[in-house]
Amino acid sequence: MSTTMTPTQLERFQVKLLKERADAEERFAEFGDVMSEVRAARSGASADDEHDPEGPTMTQEWSQRSAVLADARAELSNVDRALARIADGTYGICSRCGKRIAVARLEARPTAELCIDCARLVG
Ligand SMILES: [Zn+2]
Repeated sequence: MSTTMTPTQLERFQVKLLKERADAEERFAEFGDVMSEVRAARSGASADDEHDPEGPTMTQEWSQRSAVLADARAELSNVDRALARIADGTYGICSRCGKRIAVARLEARPTAELCIDCARLVG
């Protein structure tokens, strides 16, 4: 089955996705910088830090930043998958049931791979 979207619609989603990709990449680069700063600060700190009861602050900050970074990475790969689907003509087709994904849903979430029904089933 291939997408029944018009080339104009597809192009519009492609533009949206490319913009999202640029945003995610920016965030990714930004946090990548922060991460290496934190890493540098960490390696400069005393080895006793891990046993310091006041220590978790750094660890907490670290894991928060790791989470943001992981989000940006996941978003990048979602966007890349969506762009690949545009390229191979399966964009807007539910990857689970093969039905069309509502355009309104794609407008809200251009990286959606599942139709609303399947998304509800999967959770
Ligand atoms: Zn579906």
